[in-house]
Amino acid sequence: MDTPVLNPPAPRQPHSLMDDHPLPEFTADELRRCASSKPSACTCSLKACLGWESVSNDRWPAQQLQAVGTLRRPVPHGETEATFEEFHPHGTRYESPEAPIARAFFPFNRCDVYACGQCGCAVLRYTEYGGYYIDPRARLVDAQWVVPDQDDTAG
Ligand SMILES: [Zn+2]
Repeated sequence: MDTPVLNPPAPRQPHSLMDDHPLPEFTADELRRCASSKPSACTCSLKACLGWESVSNDRWPAQQLQAVGTLRRPVPHGETEATFEEFHPHGTRYESPEAPIARAFFPFNRCDVYACGQCGCAVLRYTEYGGYYIDPRARLVDAQWVVPDQDDTAG
């Protein structure tokens, strides 16, 4: 007879607050609707974040940004983490302001969606984990670059 072993929970890596407060999963349409204002209209400190920019916690305007949803989806069966594949059918790069916002692809598949109370724009944010650093990155959402869900051909 085996003695039942209680598995203590594995120590967890530092992670986004959001894991404790589940956010609604946004579709491409919901994301587009959330970005009611053009990034160029942003008057807050995020106005530079047209492509992905590092925005450390002390620069992050937490008072005016409210987490409203997430683009993260459960990891498919048999895979250990969301894909790192990027989506650039038109030759854009990771940091291009006009890179498509395709929620099935990196880094959008790791993003939470924030609504700016000051200027009505939407901001995506995720955290890059390096060996010795964590690097929160933000990008303003320009609705015209949001790829409709049926067009993002993951898998
Ligand atoms: Zn703003």
